[in-house]
Amino acid sequence: MSSTSHTEASEFWFIFRNERLLLEENKLPTKDSLSRLGLQFLRQHKLGQFNNSICYCAEIDPSTALPDDMTLIPLRKAFEILGADWYVAAAKASSIINWDKNHQFCGRCGNPTIHKPETYERNCPVCGLSLYPRISPSMIVLIQHDDMILMSRSPHFPPGAYGLIAGFVEVGESIEDAVHREVKEEVGIQITNLRYFGSQFWPFPDSLMIGFIADYLSGEITIDHKEIESAGWYRYDNLPGGPSSSVSIARKLIDYYIAQYVSSK
Ligand SMILES: [Zn+2]
Repeated sequence: MSSTSHTEASEFWFIFRNERLLLEENKLPTKDSLSRLGLQFLRQHKLGQFNNSICYCAEIDPSTALPDDMTLIPLRKAFEILGADWYVAAAKASSIINWDKNHQFCGRCGNPTIHKPETYERNCPVCGLSLYPRISPSMIVLIQHDDMILMSRSPHFPPGAYGLIAGFVEVGESIEDAVHREVKEEVGIQITNLRYFGSQFWPFPDSLMIGFIADYLSGEITIDHKEIESAGWYRYDNLPGGPSSSVSIARKLIDYYIAQYVSSK
């Protein structure tokens, strides 16, 4: 179960089938364990070095049969099964594979693109366009109002789950512009004293989540009823159901807020 179980080998493969990660007895497969399967890869990339091991990623055909000791897990489960360090590599692997799959043809002239060896780049041999994996910056903000924070729920959240205001940066905006705009659009309030908290790559499919803490300034909560169906101020000891997985920066922000009050008692 733990990440230490991977230390004895030096080459690991992140294999995806239908966006699910292949594990062999709850561990990443090695070159040896894959060779017995004779897998045909639809695409493959060298990921680089993680935890002193060389890592590769690849995708196999959805119809590929697998032996009983191999399982396919959703990427989110990789965090709890493989541990935080390997999850980072799995997230990168998933994004690279998805990007490669979606850029098989040139967006400018329509001809097939070619993978440039030893890079992630795809190149169009006809018009020369070079394509690189894209990262989409997005923001998430924890808004404090006295000893309460703003939590909201979107219609696509699981029942009872609340989260923080988040959204993509739009073309032409700074990240700070995006935070103020999203807060105004989704809950109708003004914030101030924006400060950086941390960032996290979020591979669903290619976001860089940039986290902030802000203070409430003015306005009444007015939800947009599209992206947000419910929002309110909640105290640290009376929070609604939040993001459960400790993998998310949303969870880290909320835990940071709670810790300020718990530790000051
Ligand atoms: Zn082209």
